[in-house]
Amino acid sequence: MRKTTEGKCYYCKKVFNKTAIKKHLDSCDERKRLIEKTEKKNANGERCFCVSVEGFYIPAYWLYLDISSLATFRDLDEFLRDIWLECCGHLSAFEIKGIRYSSSPDRLYGEKHMSVDLTKILNVGIQFTYDYDFGTTTRLKLKVISECQRIKSDKKIELMARNLPPEIKCSYCEENAKQVCVECESWLCNKCVETHECDENMLLPVVNSPRVGQCGYTGSEED
Ligand SMILES: [Zn+2]
Ligand SMILES: [Zn+2]
Ligand SMILES: [Zn+2]
Ligand SMILES: [Zn+2]
Repeated sequence: MRKTTEGKCYYCKKVFNKTAIKKHLDSCDERKRLIEKTEKKNANGERCFCVSVEGFYIPAYWLYLDISSLATFRDLDEFLRDIWLECCGHLSAFEIKGIRYSSSPDRLYGEKHMSVDLTKILNVGIQFTYDYDFGTTTRLKLKVISECQRIKSDKKIELMARNLPPEIKCSYCEENAKQVCVECESWLCNKCVETHECDENMLLPVVNSPRVGQCGYTGSEED
């Protein structure tokens, strides 16, 4: 798999590479138009953070999010589970400046709960990590890119941009993989899957997420 992927701006639907899309989000005409509309309606606006998220080990999977300053880590946890991660309700935790904010905090280890105001913690430039599932862990890397004006929305977290599904080749031929075998960790096209010898219960669909092929993850509806 290539290290970077192209992705789509969710405001104007145009496609850019990962570096270009960061700049594009500041200048996207469609987004500007929506912000101007919001400003007219709502003089105070609402503070928000523009946050990039990527697979810690597989940066080809990435998201840019507009997160309301009224959101908590719990909201972000839910968002990430919905779009990328949830398989069987595993535990999760954010780690920022050595402090862990856990879905099930262990006070003995000084962990905190996730219902904490992001404004108290986030600043432009801060990087942090997120782990979903402490067994078969999917680790994400997050970074606060900027503070920006928020477009009026009922959602506390808005998807601004997302990578297009990376092409993954079949481990046995030149076709694109459609499934992944959890037992032997091979990628399989529709043809090679027919003759694959592992138990078919070990097969998972290839989905656009850094959790592809892990535990029982079969993707979200938004894929
Ligand atoms: Zn755009
Ligand atoms: Zn699971
Ligand atoms: Zn094949
Ligand atoms: Zn196999």
